[in-house]
Amino acid sequence: MKADSHIKKCKQCGEWTDGSRNTCSFCGAELDSQYKKEIQRRIDRGDPTVPLIQVNEDDPLWMKIAKRPIQVAQLIFYAILAFLVYLTTIFAH
Ligand SMILES: [Zn+2]
Repeated sequence: MKADSHIKKCKQCGEWTDGSRNTCSFCGAELDSQYKKEIQRRIDRGDPTVPLIQVNEDDPLWMKIAKRPIQVAQLIFYAILAFLVYLTTIFAH
């Protein structure tokens, strides 16, 4: 058996094909590498486009206090989002 970690199972025909290619060598269907690339492209592009709140050094104290929980909430939101993207790439196999 050839030790090739790059083979992927085609969702279209169920055959194991060369995963370094974008299409199945058996039926020509697009492989999920394409799907993963699309997700990566969306992450790179910055979707969702909600910018992380910045706490400035010259902000008044009350604003720093008010911004902190928002910042934490945003970080948690991004962590959940990253986790969901991670899950979708796992189950895309
Ligand atoms: Zn196929």
